[in-house]
Amino acid sequence: MLIVMEHEASQEQIDNVIATIKQLGYTPAPIPGSQRTAIGILGNAGPLDPSIFLALDGVKEAIRVSKPYKLVSREVKPENTIVAVGTVGIGGPDPVIIAGPCAVESLDQCLQIAHAVKATGAHLFRAGAFKPRTSPYSFQGLGQQGLDILARVRAETGLGIVTEAVDHEVVPLVEEVADIIQIGARNMQNFSLLRRVGKCTKPVLLKRGMSATIEEFLMAAEYIAAEGNHRIILCERGVRTFADHSRNTLDLSAVPAVKTLSHLPIIVDPSHAAGKRDQVIPLACAAIAVGADGIMVEVHHDPKHALSDGPQSLFPHQFEQLMQRVRAIAAAQRAFAGS
Ligand code: PEP
Ligand code: MN
Repeated sequence: MLIVMEHEASQEQIDNVIATIKQLGYTPAPIPGSQRTAIGILGNAGPLDPSIFLALDGVKEAIRVSKPYKLVSREVKPENTIVAVGTVGIGGPDPVIIAGPCAVESLDQCLQIAHAVKATGAHLFRAGAFKPRTSPYSFQGLGQQGLDILARVRAETGLGIVTEAVDHEVVPLVEEVADIIQIGARNMQNFSLLRRVGKCTKPVLLKRGMSATIEEFLMAAEYIAAEGNHRIILCERGVRTFADHSRNTLDLSAVPAVKTLSHLPIIVDPSHAAGKRDQVIPLACAAIAVGADGIMVEVHHDPKHALSDGPQSLFPHQFEQLMQRVRAIAAAQRAFAGS
């Protein structure tokens, strides 16, 4: 259930609603929003009687939430959430572009790529210091040394950093350096890890599991929000299907589906969906055309020698092409929105 307060409700009235929820043995979850003060009620097994709350001073509405996810649902917060990272707003009118290599390999590699993508207009830099690899014998990332490199990249370029936390142990290390903590597809249902990043003060980029339904995806986001971290960015990165012409199948319909069901921003990763360089630009264009709030794309100055995901990494000059096209499509979208 969602309690919506009157516009002019006092702090005392809000506190009284919170105290009542606690007295009943449930968990109050205040929901940030510019339009209204709302308090979600979590922890109830069955439906609640709205009259208990409607009787309290300052309460405007008590709305039953029909979806299993509450805090991330659009029923609870009709307006879009914009996740602010420095001067970048993810979920606002302009698509946000996150670019960089799959993995941190060296300071020189990261700086070269970061300077190139920044010059082309990327807003944030991505690179994994801890890599979740299918084979235990593959490059696992530089770990702490990689995080130190990422801190240097931010200091030298001013780009905010997106990097993955693969387990509990590394969350505090990653949180110190990252501007956005990435949770990878393989960890989308690692519920204790989701709870842990729900306690972080940094935003979380949650990638869709490779066979997750939209409901499972949003329930994973709910785990993070339920711990108090509402700064969540969803990321569609392709799902497993019978198709073998690409690494995964980019589920573009996830974007409008999520936008109907949730107020959270959703971006698209065309690189892990494609697995092949030549599909990345068309998929990125399509993602912006269906209304994605941004793109996360792998770029490498020397993909042939990349330690991971070279075949799907764009050359910097291809990233320039991607940016030109994405900008043109975004401008067309704005023209439609304004008409
Ligand atoms: C990544 O973005 O580096 C990554 C490992 O992606 P995913 O979790 O989507 O496979
Ligand atoms: Mn990768």
